Amino acid sequence: MTPTDTLPIAVLHGDGIGPEVVPVAVAAADKALAAQGIRAVWQDLPYGSAAIDTQGSAIPSSTLAALADYRVMVVGPHDSAAYPQPHRDAPAPGAVLRKHFGLYANLRPARAIPGVEAMAPDIDLLIVRENSEGLYADRNMLVGSGEFMPTPDVALAVGLITRQASERIAERAFAAARARRQQLTIVHKANVLRLSTGLFRDVCLEVGRRFPEVTVQQQHVDAMAALLVRRPADFDVLVTENLFGDILSDLAAELSGSLGLASSINCSDTQVMAQAVHGAAPDIAGAGLADPIAMIGSVASALDWYGTAVAHGGYAAAAQALREGIAATVAAGVRTADLGGTAGTGEFGEYLCALL
Ligand code: ATP
Ligand code: MG
Repeated sequence: MTPTDTLPIAVLHGDGIGPEVVPVAVAAADKALAAQGIRAVWQDLPYGSAAIDTQGSAIPSSTLAALADYRVMVVGPHDSAAYPQPHRDAPAPGAVLRKHFGLYANLRPARAIPGVEAMAPDIDLLIVRENSEGLYADRNMLVGSGEFMPTPDVALAVGLITRQASERIAERAFAAARARRQQLTIVHKANVLRLSTGLFRDVCLEVGRRFPEVTVQQQHVDAMAALLVRRPADFDVLVTENLFGDILSDLAAELSGSLGLASSINCSDTQVMAQAVHGAAPDIAGAGLADPIAMIGSVASALDWYGTAVAHGGYAAAAQALREGIAATVAAGVRTADLGGTAGTGEFGEYLCALL
């Protein structure tokens, strides 16, 4: 056993369907890793509404302190709209995590699951979204809250783009493209937002010179939205700023099946957080109906990230086994209600774990 054959993983169940889908993802990943000779050590930490009750905060400082020691975290959704005050108006716990740990990259793959109806069955895309800047005030690391109202009738939002943040996201995107189909599309709006998204584009082009094997093209974000619908299979990796990436990744997720299947990771150079794109789904929470696919896929992506970080092929193999297991479970007709099936969350998990 080498040190990289044991992986401590922090688990934050979160709210709504989080405590239903997260344990399924944990159980499946545990089996997939074990099959590669890797022992995962799972540590639950207080988070979300349960943590408000026991620790007085949805994201307790003890949880933040403990997470500093973990390279891999699995994080369920939060339903901050349902929190009692003052917690409801506090920064959302997911945003606190991204900001506190500087998780500057949001990677959102979009790929159809064989047998699941999709508008774009041949889409196979990775959206690399800058996660720390742009117009998103809550995670803006330099200007704090980037929104303000100089008068009650005027609101301003500051969009921040820096060379440093553009460079690190571009490096991550080009490295991902090199490992995939060697195609990268820079998405910007430099015909209008000339200085800010223009800087983003220019820095991406500069970084691209260090990756000669990757073919680079660029699109304005509005044209990109149209092209994703028209010919989604023509794109491999997209790199873009925060807001554009948020919108395009929802579009890509719907094209590849549904938002309920969409996985994502947030990462820095040292840590990765698996977090499904969907929210807490309060309308179905507690009923055992939630689809765990997005959460499992997110954990698979986190294992890919970790395997690359420690140069250990077992993690990518476990991730691939999870994705193949999801496809095989769905193909066997074990589907939750969102995919037109009758299986519950637990039943899906049991079938998948038996395959693994
Ligand atoms: P947030 O603001 O946290 O992103 P949201 O308003 O976008 O939340 P979700 O919680 O993602 O909403 O739910 C949107 C719809 O998708 C709901 O009807 C919900 O039941 C459904 N949904 C979300 N996730 C799943 C899932 N894993 N399985 C089945 N249905 C889901
Ligand atoms: Mg949402």
